[in-house]
Amino acid sequence: MTVELTPNFKTKSGTSITIGAGSGTAWKSVKRSDPDNQVNLDRIVDKLSYSIKKGYNHLDTAEVYTTHPEVGRAIKKSGTPREDLWITTKYNPSSRVAEKKDHSPVELVESALKELNTDYIDLLLIHHPFFKPEQTKYNYDLVSLWQDVIKVKKSGAVRYIGVSNFTVDHLKTIIPVSETEGKEFLPVVNQIEFHPYLQNKEIVQFSQKNGILVEAYGPLTPLFRIVDEKSNKEVADHPLAKLLPQLSEKYGKTQAQILLRYALEKNVLPITTSSKEERIDQALNIYDFDLSKQDVDLIDSEGSKFPYRAFFKTYF
Ligand code: NDP
Repeated sequence: MTVELTPNFKTKSGTSITIGAGSGTAWKSVKRSDPDNQVNLDRIVDKLSYSIKKGYNHLDTAEVYTTHPEVGRAIKKSGTPREDLWITTKYNPSSRVAEKKDHSPVELVESALKELNTDYIDLLLIHHPFFKPEQTKYNYDLVSLWQDVIKVKKSGAVRYIGVSNFTVDHLKTIIPVSETEGKEFLPVVNQIEFHPYLQNKEIVQFSQKNGILVEAYGPLTPLFRIVDEKSNKEVADHPLAKLLPQLSEKYGKTQAQILLRYALEKNVLPITTSSKEERIDQALNIYDFDLSKQDVDLIDSEGSKFPYRAFFKTYF
């Protein structure tokens, strides 16, 4: 059964969006390891265009990943019309000073359009709310930054606007700003870390109640990112280490597919990344089965025994 998350999330040509193909985390580090290395850059382009050809129509990038050019090249290489794809990018408030690229969301989008070789972006997110006004060129607080994001939408350069890593309080700060501007200026997405060890129940519930689609980054965290903070060694005996192989056998799906499907069962749209074609294929192959309610509940309860956050640890 396909989970119809929301009818609003369609490419310009009218197709509902799939799970996202990310170009952060793994690809960001590939690029950073040698940003001028053509082999590295071509690898990113190849794998992203492979993903598009296989059926991902949802591409997730961000200013800080520096992968806009590769996403643009991948789209061209895939031969898929732009309007059949959905591109999300993110404005990063606190990278401004460090990277000396002071600009507003309007300015970011202008340069992103060039780098992506497109004339519109489907979704612009504020990457995170963890910044101080003095870290930004325009002394932004959350309200004034959101007002500038709204300006980008008014310009027509982006179809939708949203946020990432926002708590309920952060959402409550910006929603009234949108309400004074009109319904079309409400945030449509909150992209957060989400997996059984970080169910973020309060944020998910509040977002969904307010019509905001929750997107999951790091959805595969329980498979390979569980590290003991003190020893920095991988933890092998966490609760899902036993349960996931059992469910994998029961459903005839990989453990990664179980985790991605778990997100869908929660009406949360996962974004995933892989450099391996087999895994890229598998991750898309999650629409042809359901997890039973009992198994979702079991994942919930086992997951709740082991709270774990892999990203933005110092901010929460
Ligand atoms: P995942 O949890 O899907 O992790 C991806 C990693 O998992 C890759 O390194 C991949 O390695 C590995 N992997 C993929 N499939 C499997 C598998 N079957 N078994 C074991 N390992 C596997 O997602 P990410 O953390 O990468 O996040 C997804 C995207 O979300 C990012 O690319 C980025 O676009 C976005 N993001 C957003 C953030 C935000 O603050 N808004 C923060 C972090 C990410 P391999 O290449 O070897 O397959």
